[in-house]
Amino acid sequence: MPQIDTDIKYLKGVGPARADLFATELGVRTVGDLLEYYPLHYLDRSSIVTVAELKRREDPDQPSVQLRGRFVSFNVLGEGAKMRLVGLFSDGTGTIEVVWFNRIRQLREAYRTSKDYILFGKPTLFNGVWNFAHPEVDVPESVQAKEGFHGVYSLTEKLRNRGVTSRLIFSIVQNLLSVLDPIEETLPQSVIAEHHFISRDQALRTIHSPVSQDMLRRAKERLKFEELFFIQLKMQRMFRKRKSQLPGNVFSTIGYYFNNFYSQCLPFELTGAQKRVIREIREDVRTGRQMNRLIQGDVGSGKTLVALMSMLMALDNGMQACLMAPTEILATQHYETIRDMVAKIGINVQLLKGSTLKKKRDEIHQGLMEGSVQILIGTHAVIEDSVQFKALGMVVIDEQHRFGVAQRARLWGKSQIPPHVLVMTATPIPRTLAMTIYGDLDVSVIDELPPGRKPVLTLLRYDEQRLQVYRALYDQLRKGRQAYIVYPLVEESEKLDLRNVTEGLEHIRETFPDMEVVMVHGKMKNQEKDHQMELFSSGKAKILVATTVIEVGVNVPNATTMIIENAERFGLSQLHQLRGRVGRGGNQSYCILMTKYKISKETRERLQIMTSTTDGFVIAEADLRLRGPGDIEGTMQSGVALNLRIANLATDGQIIQLARRSAERILDEDPRLEAIENRATATRLRQLFVNDLDWSMIS
Ligand code: ADP
Ligand code: MG
Repeated sequence: MPQIDTDIKYLKGVGPARADLFATELGVRTVGDLLEYYPLHYLDRSSIVTVAELKRREDPDQPSVQLRGRFVSFNVLGEGAKMRLVGLFSDGTGTIEVVWFNRIRQLREAYRTSKDYILFGKPTLFNGVWNFAHPEVDVPESVQAKEGFHGVYSLTEKLRNRGVTSRLIFSIVQNLLSVLDPIEETLPQSVIAEHHFISRDQALRTIHSPVSQDMLRRAKERLKFEELFFIQLKMQRMFRKRKSQLPGNVFSTIGYYFNNFYSQCLPFELTGAQKRVIREIREDVRTGRQMNRLIQGDVGSGKTLVALMSMLMALDNGMQACLMAPTEILATQHYETIRDMVAKIGINVQLLKGSTLKKKRDEIHQGLMEGSVQILIGTHAVIEDSVQFKALGMVVIDEQHRFGVAQRARLWGKSQIPPHVLVMTATPIPRTLAMTIYGDLDVSVIDELPPGRKPVLTLLRYDEQRLQVYRALYDQLRKGRQAYIVYPLVEESEKLDLRNVTEGLEHIRETFPDMEVVMVHGKMKNQEKDHQMELFSSGKAKILVATTVIEVGVNVPNATTMIIENAERFGLSQLHQLRGRVGRGGNQSYCILMTKYKISKETRERLQIMTSTTDGFVIAEADLRLRGPGDIEGTMQSGVALNLRIANLATDGQIIQLARRSAERILDEDPRLEAIENRATATRLRQLFVNDLDWSMIS
């Protein structure tokens, strides 16, 4: 009798060779894995399409369909690799070609011209003619025996070549289910009752062969919830454990530095959102528990100031602070901004980069150990082992998605009690997603821009309109303003990439001979890059031609125009980041998205989102909807692997919220999951995350 952890090689229809294939191709090893290999979609075995009807269809993207009829003839055509078996299939309303490229002789012998068959497959349109390649072929008797919907499973090329069909998987699963004992429940009864869910047993049986659309919906709902619930449970437990266990430095006083900065150095009133977030941080750092807070704030929302004022809290309590930025350009800029802002109150601020010279570096190391350096700003260089602090109290990480969890962890070695950590990101993440991937961080949102900002006017323009675009640009330049011209990174080819920008540079220099034009790109030496940036930020150079290295954080308020070449190659969130480089001063700014005239409807729609809104959250939601969460999952910081099998972060936001609420309630009632009614849940949780490190101490 198979159990949930039985190796699938023992199942009817599998065997050792197929089991190996399933393991390597699909990651399916046990009965449990197989049951969670959910169908991609379903075939309604009760509906049959006629050839005539199929031929009337014009949309080349058709779902799989079922035909019923006979083969009129078979022919083997072509030679060698191009050899194929072509069957002409007729159902009385018309004929259609069916093609096989593999197992030609076998199939030729298996199929007859005098017999009724049911074909199931995805029709393809080739040279304007519908045909089938490698459909599943059944005799009607075997099909009619089964009712309702049949799961259709995705296959790899290799599986297909070895003769594994979706139908084979379906029959293996059906055989399995017919001999399997009821599948054990994993959700607490109270959760099932709360949401009126069907049982796990019922859901898993239904998902492979639902009797109705309604049952399918209920099975999906239950399985999606379950998937998200266990992620939430894991996150919440990490979060609670960290909160209760990790001691933090107590910053009991707000003193000289904070108060004097506030009264003497602030060039403007803080926005309401900035004040609120500073208050939240202030609350965190006095509790005696380590702070782990994520600040989400759209580009230009004034995160730097919040970071600085948080660092001053550490200084007021006799400790040091450190700010990490992802690039040298950005670190330098933070350094200059902060150094200038605190000049009046006398704080020792130092900058440490990869390129810092040995003598200066030694000096900084010394100062950090003695405690004379109060604020250290830098790139990855600050997490090197040789960097030791006397008393590191606060770490700010700007643009966190470029720092991995492991890198953050290295900071821990730098003090007895872990420093408070503030992570700042300008990539607004939709709430539902933040709840899933940052479930273990406290989140603050700066949802207000400083007053007086004029929204950037964004326009979509085609190459044919380039002259007009340049004319408008020239108008801006003549008013003394500056501009960015951005070229996409072509990842496949660094060379091509470079050619794009360098050709761009020449072209711009020819077009604007009376303007100073500089260039930065990723392949440049840092020193050269800094020099070019310096020319631009000082205002000497009017135009900066760049690849996406300027994406994060660069602040030149006098720059009012950004032209983005081949805008269609950028993701929405990236475009939004880029656009954030303009509109930072009081003047009306412009962002011109250049594309060729012929772009797809989808691309046009995507770019129109950029022209219609400047709200980072709206854009992030749209990006998530259009591209799926893959990108964001790929840069996950939480340490929990999200191998979602059925839930979709982009569309299942509501279920995420329900799952989170239920997980919180269960843990409130039974923090260690020891109660009898939660035992199965606890076991399942351990199994699911057995390979995950415990990040609770370091994230
Ligand atoms: P980001 O959140 O993108 O890092 P910055 O911290 O670079 O934004 O701030 C963007 C600009 O807004 C800077 O020039 C900064 O001096 C200015 N700024 C920040 N806070 C305020 C405020 N409360 N009022 C006016 N300007 C502000
Ligand atoms: Mg910033």
